[in-house]
Amino acid sequence: MDRPDHDLIIVGAGLSGGLIAHAFATKRSDVRILLLERGSSAGGNHIWSFFDGDVAPQDRWLIDPFVAHRWPQGHAVHFPGRNRKLDTPYQSVTSVQFSESLARLLGDRLVTGAEIATVSPKGVTLSNGQMLSARAVIDCRGAADLTMLHCGWQKFVGHTLRLPEPHGIDRPVIMDATVPQHDGYRFVYLLPWDDRSIFVEDTYYSNSPELDVPSIDARIADYAAARGWSEFEIVHREQGVLPVVHGGDFDRYWPRHDPVARAGVAAGLFQPMTGYSLPDAARFAAWIVGQSLDDLPAKTRAYAKAQWARGGYYRLLGKMLFGAAQPDQRWHIFERFYGLSPDLIQRFYAGRSTAYDRIRILCGRPPVPIRSAMRTLLNPPA
Ligand SMILES: Cc1cc2nc3c(=O)[nH]c(=O)nc-3n(C[C@H](O)[C@H](O)[C@H](O)COP(=O)(O)OP(=O)(O)OC[C@H]3O[C@@H](n4cnc5c(N)ncnc54)[C@H](O)[C@@H]3O)c2cc1C
Repeated sequence: MDRPDHDLIIVGAGLSGGLIAHAFATKRSDVRILLLERGSSAGGNHIWSFFDGDVAPQDRWLIDPFVAHRWPQGHAVHFPGRNRKLDTPYQSVTSVQFSESLARLLGDRLVTGAEIATVSPKGVTLSNGQMLSARAVIDCRGAADLTMLHCGWQKFVGHTLRLPEPHGIDRPVIMDATVPQHDGYRFVYLLPWDDRSIFVEDTYYSNSPELDVPSIDARIADYAAARGWSEFEIVHREQGVLPVVHGGDFDRYWPRHDPVARAGVAAGLFQPMTGYSLPDAARFAAWIVGQSLDDLPAKTRAYAKAQWARGGYYRLLGKMLFGAAQPDQRWHIFERFYGLSPDLIQRFYAGRSTAYDRIRILCGRPPVPIRSAMRTLLNPPA
């Protein structure tokens, strides 16, 4: 039989595909990989941030080369009734650093501008008709059919502002929920890159995925003005609409008969309550690099299905958030959550809550009306 063109073709050079390629290039130089991306560079236009503890110390080598900024001093949150500083350090990967580092590491094993038309377990066809064969293929093309899941949405628009004067923010603000509430739970997220550059992201936990960018742009300008930042240049923009999955059927999202291996959001590998996938993407890359390429579809599906089962508790919380709390009262849930212990909060974001954490998050005086909560649990929102 002819030797395949490659051992492993990775389709999509986003977060998950890039980390898998990095893992194989670093630890398994015997595996001939090819990373294919339709965009002009890997990673799209993103800032991916994470807490220390989201990625296990033994897996940090996977992500560290892509970290563009680290805040060892920790982070803060602001609510109408709570201001809190937490010691947990925070860091950001930028797609610029991601694409440059990957391009250096992979050389001609990364091909951009490659639109993939079809994928099969043993090869891909590009939109120009070119066919490439491989011992194994892994699909990392981002979200599959989200209509198979019950979702609320975390949606946002972010601007990096360059100011003539220092902005005065000394650490990331993960949630500034002192802003007027609008379209669900609204908060502003701040990343101070240096003393005059700050990323300001206006975020909504909303029932609808529609993103009204001009209105949100205007609210970012209002927020900046209220902070006394009236003169600035916008040097970077990004936006996103992430699913907050509170129900649905994994077997419909990734049908049993789909024969291609998957990773990342395509495999349902994200924290259901936040839509964030970096902790899962790092764990998955660290796992897959230790696997043989035989039976990759079955192995990756089993991995993702087990992770989906572990996410049941977070989907239940999502159900409460979107089903039981009035949209303009959702912030109470987060304000109460941020009164809990820093370690518990850290484990929550990493998707690693313990049995005690799960009880602790739910016990006490509920921040949503108890009848409404019970109704939601018995009759999940459609
Ligand atoms: C703006 C933004 C900010 C985010 N911030 C964070 C964060 O701070 N922390 C966090 O954990 N999560 C964050 N997320 C959520 C999540 O981590 C990201 O969506 C993450 O990029 C998902 O990784 P992925 O590899 O599954 O998909 P993606 O990163 O979306 O990668 C998919 C790749 O496949 C390519 N592709 C798609 N179709 C084809 C095709 N036919 N042919 C070739 N290539 C194709 C795409 O161009 C893309 O590069 C953010 C999401 C967005 C949109």
